[in-house]
Amino acid sequence: MRVVHRDGTTSGCSFSAAQSRLPCAVHARIREEIGAACDPRSVLTLPFTDARFRALRDAAEQHLRTLLEVPEGWEVLFMQGGASAQFGLVPLNLASPGTVADYVQTGHWSTRAMDEASGVVRVSVVATSAHRQFDHVPDPMSWRHTPAAAYLHVTDNETADGVEHHRMPCGVDAPLVSDMTSSFLTRRVPLAAYGAIYAGAQKNLGVAGLTVVLVRRDLLGRPHAWVPAPFDYGRQAAADSMVNTPPTFAIYVAGLVFEWLLEQGGLGVMEALSQRKSDALYAAIDGSEGFFRCRAQPGSRSRVSVCFDLADAAHTPVFLSSAHAEGLEGLAGHSRIGGLRAGLYNAVSPEDVGALIDFMREFRRRYQ
Ligand SMILES: *Cc1c(COP(=O)(O)O)cnc(C)c1O
Repeated sequence: MRVVHRDGTTSGCSFSAAQSRLPCAVHARIREEIGAACDPRSVLTLPFTDARFRALRDAAEQHLRTLLEVPEGWEVLFMQGGASAQFGLVPLNLASPGTVADYVQTGHWSTRAMDEASGVVRVSVVATSAHRQFDHVPDPMSWRHTPAAAYLHVTDNETADGVEHHRMPCGVDAPLVSDMTSSFLTRRVPLAAYGAIYAGAQKNLGVAGLTVVLVRRDLLGRPHAWVPAPFDYGRQAAADSMVNTPPTFAIYVAGLVFEWLLEQGGLGVMEALSQRKSDALYAAIDGSEGFFRCRAQPGSRSRVSVCFDLADAAHTPVFLSSAHAEGLEGLAGHSRIGGLRAGLYNAVSPEDVGALIDFMREFRRRYQ
């Protein structure tokens, strides 16, 4: 069952949660750009000081500001090091020495963020679902905030565990900092409620190498201690993210993805699609009479990282190899958790999800 894309091309589909596929239209534009043999003006080798790169970069930033309706007084930074570098850079840039930072622990990635931050600030866990193997996001009403915390950190979507924050606390003084790596640009975000957001590019913005940071300008200028210049939010903001050579190709690709998202109708449209895709897949899991199971509790289930497993785990390798034979790739769960997982990023269409559901139905018919 090969997947037929909207533009008529057929191919397999990757549901990898670690790296999204590109929308076919974006892929075509990249091919066009770098197709000409050894063109010195190709974006592959364009110096970042070149006026053409500058224009591409500025357009990418502008498209992102339009998509997210970024308010006045916010900086958009194009950085490197991945979301994992931000685990340490958030406290280094946003917390003064000796202060406390609040963390909500909801799975693998928030735990990594806390562990890394604890080398820089005093970390306080305001809520955790560790005792329930991260099957839900604790109710924001129950979070025990620290007075005068430097910030409150959440992992918007737990890519490995399959849970997502669907409600945010209100009336919290500390700036809300969110790791949105896997949910970025899959829904609208009321930025006024946040202090900073960061996301690695490979999950929803194209190719690896770029990390986008959005930060309220008034939070800058109080770095914890010495921060290397390329990782200093304030210095990067002052230099339009060109303190040093930026990841030029990844910025170019992200710019194309932003344009593609605007052409699709923006984040309201992506949000509705994301809801439709995940609702369909959860309905298939829940309707399988226990053949497929989902550990994440209904009110916390992720729209983007659908984690599930087979009641009979012995079938997992057969499921993966049969799916591969049908052109359905990347369905293995996170290495620490196992089971199955479908990454439903923006480039994965409802038709792709339909093909997965058909495959799951057929697999169940054969093996139940
Ligand atoms: C993938 C992921 C990360 C790690 O991203 P890197 O770019 O590999 O550092 C961090 N947080 C979340 C939520 C992720 O999904």
